[in-house]
Parts: sequence; structure tokens; C-alpha cells
Amino acid sequence: MPRLSEVIAALEKLWPPERAESWDAVGTVAGDPDAEVTRVLFAVDPVQETVDEAVKLGADLLVTHHPLYLRGTTTVAASTFKGRVVHTLIKNDVALHVAHTNADRADPGVSDALAGALDLRVTGPLVPDPTDPAGRRGLGRICELEHPVTLRELVGRAADRLPATAQGIRVSGDLEATIRTVAVSGGSGDSLFADVRAAGVDAFLTADLRHHPASEAREQSPLALLDAAHWATEQPWCELAAAQLDEISDRSGWGLRVHVSKTVTDPWTAHAASNATPIPTGAPN
Ligand SMILES: [Zn+2]
Repeated sequence: MPRLSEVIAALEKLWPPERAESWDAVGTVAGDPDAEVTRVLFAVDPVQETVDEAVKLGADLLVTHHPLYLRGTTTVAASTFKGRVVHTLIKNDVALHVAHTNADRADPGVSDALAGALDLRVTGPLVPDPTDPAGRRGLGRICELEHPVTLRELVGRAADRLPATAQGIRVSGDLEATIRTVAVSGGSGDSLFADVRAAGVDAFLTADLRHHPASEAREQSPLALLDAAHWATEQPWCELAAAQLDEISDRSGWGLRVHVSKTVTDPWTAHAASNATPIPTGAPN
């Protein structure tokens, strides 16, 4: 059985911490480097539910995409929800390791997993990492469809293939428009509109799109938008990351048991379609 330090070294080879954004907080949050690891759980969020899931599973290591503490803290008292997470981890000998923007920019990274979930062929990063001579790392991905589809078909595919959430997929655009190229970005994507426009793609699949950036993007070009739940755009990375660690474990003879969390930690839990009478078009006001 490998020690935690050996497993972390392997994870940091996949997602070097120095490739994270300067504001990010990645790396090991809890855990004894000398502890033995037999079981690993991957999840998007380091919340109580996923930590409880790790404990129940008998995992020694929980790897999450989102950081527990992004801005630092002065207390881990169990009277705070993050402190309770820390207490649960330490009491149950579960280590916590975070791979966030270093996993976003990796090759393969979070957006490759999102593209893969929809069978989109990745042609390159949306925002290339200038330090990568191969031109494969970076934020977001530009993708091609094997065969052009309508926006309606692409939305149907996203709804079928991404993990189920209350939000589902919000859409902007003509459902009968032909889509040949798609930019994808796991997590909040509305800071990437300038890059999406420059890429000249037909559609953009991401999460957390706000009114103004989305409205302005729509006015500037006939870009179709698919807005999924933040969690749903990043959960496919857990499957990819688990498969990567599984392969390392096989190669190294570690015999690790690697799992992906089944818990939906998207904060939105219900969705109601509008029921009000629509405002009549062309009516005098
Ligand atoms: Zn995220």
C-alpha cells in the first residue's frame, strides 16, 4: 500500500500546484504524509456530505476540485461548517487534497472531461497556457462535432449525458440553428466570452452565466449558449481523474480502490418552469 505522500506526489504530477492561478488554494488540506492509502474518493465539493461519504466508504483520501478554504481562516472549530469538515476528516483519518485551477489547465483537464461527456472532439484550448510548448494546456477547450447537429440536438445531448441536477440546461439561441463547433469550459465561464468570440464557435457550453455578459455576447454575435449547473460541468472530471489515478495505481502495483462520489452537491435543489401568462408580443405599452 502506498503512503499518502506517494499518492500526493502522483497527483501533483498530473496537476502541478504551481500551475494553479495565483488566487487559488490547491494542495493537501489535511492528512499525515506517512499514512497508508487504500481507498480514494473523488468529488467536486469538500462539503460535509462528501466527507461523510468518504468516511462511510472507508476512504483514506478525499480528492476534491473545489478548495475548502480559499481565503484562509483563523479557526477550525467544529462550530463552523468548514471546521466540522476538518474535524470529521482528522477524526476518521481521511486526508483531503485539492486540485482546482491546476486541474482546469491540465492536459487532460476539467474541460476535456466535459467535452468527452458529450463526445465532442477537442481541437485545442480556448485560452492556451503560454508555458506549454505543445499548445494543449490552458483554460476551456474548443471542440468540433463529428457531424453537425441542431442546437436542439446538442442541448438534448447535454441534458442526457451530464449528471442530473435540478437546474438542467438553460439555453439561449435558435434551437434549429446548425452547430459545428463548440467552446466548453467547466465551472463559471462568463469571463471567457471574449475568447469564445475570438474562437468564432457556434455554441458555448459552461455554467454560472450572468445576465449582462450573456446578453452582451448574444447581441454581438449569433452565439448559442448552454448553461449547465456548475457542479454538473465539473463532475465529469472526477470520473476522468479517478481513471487516471486507477491507471497509476495499476502501473505502480498499489492496488488502490478508487471511487467517484455519488452525491449531488449542486446547491440548487429544485426548478420551476415559468407558469405566468407571457407578455403578448407587439402589444402597445
Ligand atoms: Zn468549479
